[in-house]
Amino acid sequence: MTGKIIRIAIDGPGGAGKSTVAKAVARRLDIDYIDTGAMYRAIAYKFLSEGLTPDSMGESDFKSSMNKILAGSKVDYSQGITTLDGKDVSRDIRTSEISAAASAFSAIPEVREKLVRLQRDMACRRSLVMDGRDIGTNVIKDAEIKIFLTASPEERARRRYEELISKGQKVQYASILSEMKKRDHNDSSRSINPLVKAEDAILIDSSNMDVDQVVDLICSEIEKQG
Ligand code: C5P
Repeated sequence: MTGKIIRIAIDGPGGAGKSTVAKAVARRLDIDYIDTGAMYRAIAYKFLSEGLTPDSMGESDFKSSMNKILAGSKVDYSQGITTLDGKDVSRDIRTSEISAAASAFSAIPEVREKLVRLQRDMACRRSLVMDGRDIGTNVIKDAEIKIFLTASPEERARRRYEELISKGQKVQYASILSEMKKRDHNDSSRSINPLVKAEDAILIDSSNMDVDQVVDLICSEIEKQG
């Protein structure tokens, strides 16, 4: 690659294959990859570990506890590793419980403010692939390439099911599909930074494509831009 900075924003619903594709594109171009979903998961993990749930206390107590925990939390993502307060939590954050909690907590303005600030710092003056829900519409609005990667809910649930089974987790396809639909609804209907396709994003439906085909398509779009 030339010295030109290229920032690739990949957004889409859970299970669309964003992280697999984003990692492969980053590897091909020899640039960094940032998984912003992992950062929301790390915050959700911290909140749950501290016993923070909206149902466990009144609204103002919840807000003040949350702000205190948020201010004292250090989240980072580097070289494929998610750290929370200096500890590697990459594996701990990959459970269905954390998926649901991350989706719920990510609708809180203070959580988004903190993480979006960190993500913008990470994307400052360097080439990278960043994936999430609001990268092309909010975090890097002027990204050189924007992709909206999606697939049918059934196909996404099937992929997530196989991924979790291969990791030895005991899960059921029907509950993954219903959790996924719930998460799609939460992510798309929240008032701040909802999951929507940026007007200038390229839409890719990966329902009938394998990873290599999607990566080839994205790389050919990058080449077109010169
Ligand atoms: O991508 P992943 O499934 O790991 O993300 C977990 C949750 O974090 C999503 O369901 C979404 O609610 C939230 N998220 C977000 N904005 C991002 C990335 C993830 O709100 N940029």
